[in-house]
Amino acid sequence: METQSKGVIFDIKKYALHDGPGIRTTVFLKGCPLNCWWCHNPEGQNPEPERIWSNQNTQKEIIGREVSVEEVIAEIEKDLIFYDESGGGVTFSGGEPLMQHDFLDHLLTACQTRELSTTLDTCGYSSWEIIEKIKDKVDLFLYDLKMIDDKNHQKYTGVSVLPILSNLKRLEGENIIIRFPVIPGITDTEENVNQLVDWLSKLETIKEINLLPFHKIGYSKYLKLNRENVLLDLNPPSPERLNQLLDTFRGLGFITKLGG
Ligand code: SF4
Repeated sequence: METQSKGVIFDIKKYALHDGPGIRTTVFLKGCPLNCWWCHNPEGQNPEPERIWSNQNTQKEIIGREVSVEEVIAEIEKDLIFYDESGGGVTFSGGEPLMQHDFLDHLLTACQTRELSTTLDTCGYSSWEIIEKIKDKVDLFLYDLKMIDDKNHQKYTGVSVLPILSNLKRLEGENIIIRFPVIPGITDTEENVNQLVDWLSKLETIKEINLLPFHKIGYSKYLKLNRENVLLDLNPPSPERLNQLLDTFRGLGFITKLGG
């Protein structure tokens, strides 16, 4: 018997190639304390299962379901052969997985017992006590860093950046890749990029950044959720701008990639 711990997930993605090394299974835990203007997984924000309109806008479907650790692990174990051959494993994403930290802790322990590689995709907004509890069971952190200015962070995400920065500092020494969402005029401003560069340069052990360009792929989800999308008219960053950012971070010695 694994554990009776249960949690709410809204998706399990197989053969994921951009959520950490190798071929992975990504488990999306529901619930996020942030409300980013550009969120492309808005169905992951509410911690509870919810009814949304289906594609045809004629009937409703439920997003999110309660599952046990055993059920999730059974799904993960179906793809062991791919993890072995590709150096892959399991990624926990969301939403923000740390919001269901007990459930996450049980899942990580179950993975560790099976010697499965684990990645945690996190926005870092949590108490240090929670992060400290799980950090030794995580092989790689994909750590979102959106903006440094606290007022702007509060405006565009709904929460302070201070615990995110503090937790990142305390995690130094762990295996961490920074993920920077490139949102034109919001995170991608000269001021924010300079502050980000300045801040990251002071960290000694973090050497890799992934740039995540703004895109419109999740737009239909806002319609289904009957929610306003405030960035409806925003265009993705140009290839020239992305190349500039790649050059900037590479020039500072960071391994820098587009996407995960
Ligand atoms: S942290 Fe991620 S999941 Fe949460 S609101 Fe922001 S973009 Fe969406």
